[in-house]
Amino acid sequence: MLVEAARTAINAGTPDSARQIANDMARRLLRPVINGTGTLLHTNLGRAPMGWEQAEQYSNLEFDLTTGERGSRMDTAPALIAQVCGAEAAIVVNNCAAAVLLALASLAEDKGVVVSRGELVEIGGGFRVPDVMARSGARLIEVGTTNRTRLADFKRAIDKHGEDAALVLQVHQSNYKIVGFTEAPRTAELATLNRPLVADIGSGLVDSRCSWLDGGPPGWLDNEPAARQTLEAGADLVTFSGDKLFGGPQAGIIAGRADLVAACSAHPLARALRPGALVLGALQATALAYLNRDGDAIPFWRMASLSQDELRSRAQEIGVGIVVDVASTPGGGTLPEVEIPSAGVAVEGDQRSALRNHRHPIIARVIDGRTIIDLRTVHPDDDSEIAAAVTSGSG
Ligand SMILES: *Cc1c(COP(=O)(O)O)cnc(C)c1O
Repeated sequence: MLVEAARTAINAGTPDSARQIANDMARRLLRPVINGTGTLLHTNLGRAPMGWEQAEQYSNLEFDLTTGERGSRMDTAPALIAQVCGAEAAIVVNNCAAAVLLALASLAEDKGVVVSRGELVEIGGGFRVPDVMARSGARLIEVGTTNRTRLADFKRAIDKHGEDAALVLQVHQSNYKIVGFTEAPRTAELATLNRPLVADIGSGLVDSRCSWLDGGPPGWLDNEPAARQTLEAGADLVTFSGDKLFGGPQAGIIAGRADLVAACSAHPLARALRPGALVLGALQATALAYLNRDGDAIPFWRMASLSQDELRSRAQEIGVGIVVDVASTPGGGTLPEVEIPSAGVAVEGDQRSALRNHRHPIIARVIDGRTIIDLRTVHPDDDSEIAAAVTSGSG
């Protein structure tokens, strides 16, 4: 790499820039950063933080230790996740976009899928429902209007297309809201349509009762759809991300009716989209935390549950800059407009570049001419790094 840096510098006619080029190369390597933005699921910072170590050893990834026969990787974490969601079965793929792609390809290839025009969404990074639909080989049958769609619109489309309308898809409008003169059928109504119903809830809230939190569901969860309740309401499958409100590694989960999950598993795309032992191990640890009702073991939920008072006293103890009240956000394209009262440290001016260049990079926000580090998204072990960086950065 150093030779490469030297060559680049010499070719550019500026040999002295070699050191800078080498340093920049090193800084582009994947590394831990301190998230001072207050955005809990920061897409640029890897969404949910997740610690997972796997020993340098073989695993029983596809080996059943009880029978000594070949096993299935979907009997590990996916089976536990099904239990967490109250689903008959589940399978795990690379991300939620892949989950939707696989569900559509498996259940509606060369067939029509009925979707409300109000739910033909784009979710950050180019996940567009009509595009994913096209790639899956399913045909879009759009019904209703942008702001109002009724059950009768779905019924009419199913009457008209008959057997060709093979599936109904409901998509959560994760990252935006249509307010005012609006109407959309509920999951329970769509479940009466006599077609398999796939609900892409995206966010990965597994159960609206939040039994893994001592205080029950936090107020900011609003009416976020949850996997268990969406299935109870009659959805045949739900799809969601592993690294949003689920709080695990990047993954996509398809959970629900066993026969439909089996159809997804049998599709050739399932193999192309399947995760390996590293991801399944991290998902298993997260699922076990849910089953133990131990929200503190899931970094996202631990950070989301911190009280503003706790964060204020940490800011005080850091002892640099001034203590300020700020608002954290869930992020990750979930819960738009939701704010969680938080606290942090503020210093004058725009210090973002100095903080980013600290030995342990700190990502901060600038609000009203001050640099703000929101402590909700900072691990307490890193508070001392913040003190050190702010002291050296602002002189
Ligand atoms: C976030 C989201 C997706 C995409 O999920 P990825 O895991 O990023 O692929 C799809 N659908 C909905 C409703 C979402 O919220």
